[in-house]
Amino acid sequence: MHLHLKYLIELQAVDLRLIEIRERLSRFPKRLAELEARVTGARHQITTAKEALTGSLKDRKTYEMDVEQWKERAKKYRNQSSEVKTNEAYKALQHEIQNAEDEAAKAEDRLLDRMVAGEEYERHVKAAEAAVKQVEAAANVERQTIQAEYNAAQKELTGAEAVRAGAVAAVPEDLVDHYERIAKRHGGIALAEIRGEGCGQCGVHIRPHVIQQLQRDGNEEFFHCETCTRVLYYADHAAAQASASAAPSAPAHES
Ligand SMILES: [Zn+2]
Repeated sequence: MHLHLKYLIELQAVDLRLIEIRERLSRFPKRLAELEARVTGARHQITTAKEALTGSLKDRKTYEMDVEQWKERAKKYRNQSSEVKTNEAYKALQHEIQNAEDEAAKAEDRLLDRMVAGEEYERHVKAAEAAVKQVEAAANVERQTIQAEYNAAQKELTGAEAVRAGAVAAVPEDLVDHYERIAKRHGGIALAEIRGEGCGQCGVHIRPHVIQQLQRDGNEEFFHCETCTRVLYYADHAAAQASASAAPSAPAHES
């Protein structure tokens, strides 16, 4: 196998890792935004509950004034009753008094409802405040987790970039260009392992001649898939070659 192909296989492996790491890194802003949205949403619940409570207190004030006004009016009519001269006028006044007292009673009922509802609104505010505390505590933990994951991913990225630089340095520049051109067109994957008798990436059948050539020891030629144009390689062959060159050479024994 061509020596440079071995480095291209390394380059491909690290590039796939880089794609995965960058993809993971790109998700962090969204994860953080979702986290903050959850906290903001919970805080908004407090605002809504407080607004409802304020509205309820305002209504209460209005109904208190209604009660006062109707009671005031009834009192005024009662005071006038000693001054009326005719039976007719007296009856009319009695009617007004009754009406004012009825209205005062109704206003008092409304006021009582409001006061009961007001307690409910206060409970809502307290519940919302408690919920925010929980959401914020959970968010703080999650933020730290996300931050730690982000730092780890950044570290992985730096490591993988260094590995890539090493692989790139071992290959002639024009071959790296060739590799990158193919990778750019094919979702970052410039190499295709031969599986069975087909291209491991696009699945097209590879001519036996090409397979034979690739399997031949000392082959110095690059072959491309005729359909997807990726550089073809044999994974077994590459592994065998790598372990053979890594292991100390020992004479083979016939048994
Ligand atoms: Zn192919």
